[in-house]
Amino acid sequence: MNYRHSIDGAEVDLPVGKVVCVGRNYAAHAKELNNPVPTEPVLFIKPNTSIVSLAESIFIPTHLGQCHFETEMSILIGTQLGAGCNEEQAQAAIAGVGLALDLTLRELQQQLKDKSLPWEKAKSFDGACPASEFVSASRVANLQNQQIQLHQNQQLRQDGNSADMLTPVLPLLVYISQFFTLMPGDMVLTGTPAGVGPLAVGDQLHLSLSDLIQRQTQICATV
Ligand code: ZN
Repeated sequence: MNYRHSIDGAEVDLPVGKVVCVGRNYAAHAKELNNPVPTEPVLFIKPNTSIVSLAESIFIPTHLGQCHFETEMSILIGTQLGAGCNEEQAQAAIAGVGLALDLTLRELQQQLKDKSLPWEKAKSFDGACPASEFVSASRVANLQNQQIQLHQNQQLRQDGNSADMLTPVLPLLVYISQFFTLMPGDMVLTGTPAGVGPLAVGDQLHLSLSDLIQRQTQICATV
């Protein structure tokens, strides 16, 4: 694994841990995939073997059906958060804020959902979590007012704001911690706004988080 966590341009001494993700955290995205709007966060995990750097080209499988982009604000955990923590502790545990892609093999996911099987193969495969570097939490004035954008070949595909999260970041971290202890170096993906769609080999992507993070990358085929 080449990926290392970094904050404000400098590598940090945190292990690269698991990634806890929330599905359907924006109502408009739940609706675009004909899913019900959940009353509780829908959680799943990507292992650290899924994490790659968004600063490099992204390699996607091409023999397993459509691979969708989902552009998400990511949170880097700096201190342990476990069951019984509160929102103040959750705020203090945030080391950085970044962007990540929750790559999803959509057709495989649908097949698994149809059989009531777990999603892991569709969302947790090697390379399924391209992640940006982080900006320090102190530079993010308001976690719930961040613009999340993705351009695919110069076309604006995703344009959402973290204000529209069904479960905002702090209650989300508290909720997650009731089930999965968040360790230093873990990441949390906070859900995708609407506009998800398939990637093609050769695509140029441009992702941004407000004026904090800008990333450009291209899509290649896994050999
Ligand atoms: Zn997602």
